[in-house]
Amino acid sequence: MTQALDAGVFAALSPEARLNGVVEATGLSDASAAQLREPSNLAPDVANHMIENMISTIAIPVGVATGMIVDGRERLVPLAIEETSIVGFVSDAAARCRATGGFSTSMSGTVMIAQVQVLGVANPHAARLEILAREEEIRAICDGCDSVLLEHGGGFRGLEVRLVESSQGMMLVLHLLVDTRDAMGANTVNTMAERLAPRIGEWTKGTVLLRILSNLADRRLARARAAWRVEDIGGAQVRDAMVSASALAASDPYRAATNNKGIMNGISAVVLATGNDTRAVEAGAHAFAAREGSYRSLSHWEVDPEGNLSGAIELPMAVGTVGGATRAHPTARALLELTQVSGAEELARVIAAVGLAQNFAALHALCTDGIQKGHMARHAANVAIEAGATGPEVEAVVAAMAKRGTISASAAREALRSHREEA
Ligand code: NAD
Repeated sequence: MTQALDAGVFAALSPEARLNGVVEATGLSDASAAQLREPSNLAPDVANHMIENMISTIAIPVGVATGMIVDGRERLVPLAIEETSIVGFVSDAAARCRATGGFSTSMSGTVMIAQVQVLGVANPHAARLEILAREEEIRAICDGCDSVLLEHGGGFRGLEVRLVESSQGMMLVLHLLVDTRDAMGANTVNTMAERLAPRIGEWTKGTVLLRILSNLADRRLARARAAWRVEDIGGAQVRDAMVSASALAASDPYRAATNNKGIMNGISAVVLATGNDTRAVEAGAHAFAAREGSYRSLSHWEVDPEGNLSGAIELPMAVGTVGGATRAHPTARALLELTQVSGAEELARVIAAVGLAQNFAALHALCTDGIQKGHMARHAANVAIEAGATGPEVEAVVAAMAKRGTISASAAREALRSHREEA
């Protein structure tokens, strides 16, 4: 088991020393450690094979959140993100709930949905029953697409046929339910839908149009909960303020959007770090947040019988530990190794815990000092760099702005000018 790295000590180390600590704590392989030591770590020929018209790559910092206990196990979690504060927020939230045992997680399964859209069906109700009656034929076609998936315990799990009213009349929509195990599964289920489509056309005497997964992966829900003692969060007043703040996100889409953006700050950063599809996870999260007709918070905050602040989150989490770019991108592969997860389900559960941690920290900041105090202090270096500071000038400009109590572009420019004049 990985020992928790002391958060304060870890944060004060150099990037190189932090990586050494992570390598030691996780037993990371030499190849992965070497990959992470190389800052420009995506070779042009690999990148050129990943997308079309490749011209360059863009480097994003990777930080490690410390102090997380997930299901009783110490975790170091990599986050790839350009925004200040997120890694610190997750680590802070994790440290504050260690006394109650950290995060407890679960998952509804690893089943993805592929949709097949059929137009122009004369008798859609009868056609629906015709398809449902052919479940075993459909299972054979789907399972015939991917013997590797079957070897890993995945495959066809069931069928739904929906009749959807649209501006173009009634459409028949078939859902294939497929357990994609450790794969995110988009390519896997798309292949099945395409292979099956001609038979669906024959059976329904309709015209098959779309054959693609749904990103509303509501058969693949990751869940996380945790409790924070009042003495670890600044008192009962702060706890109650956080509950009241979250109540607004449960009722008001304007607040819910910002609340969920904060959650996705943590989630998308781990999704990106592990080479998973950020757009797929984000589309699933937001569609799930709106599933009851109005857009709501993905998290809920309440007071438990012991008086602790209790947080819970549930959202679709279509991530893989095989397939896509998870193994093709050498840095993602190394960072996936660093997470020490055994497969896609465990990764999804850790990511849900990170989402809850990030949400806790943002709410906590909002209900105490306000978001800008900590954020701007951490953002000060970016402001200094944007004003033109380089090397040791960055720290000098940050210190000057802190002394003046103003962190802004104009304050940075002025501080840089006087620093250069003095120098
Ligand atoms: P993939 O096709 O690269 O790999 C999946 C395959 O890996 C499986 O079909 C199986 O044959 C094999 N496999 C090996 N070990 C396995 C295991 N333990 N568990 C399960 N399968 C195992 O990738 P994918 O996951 O099917 O698709 C993901 C990619 O699809 C991502 O790059 C994503 O960006 C992309 N994509 C997304 C969308 C969307 O979200 N709307 C649409 C199209 C493509």
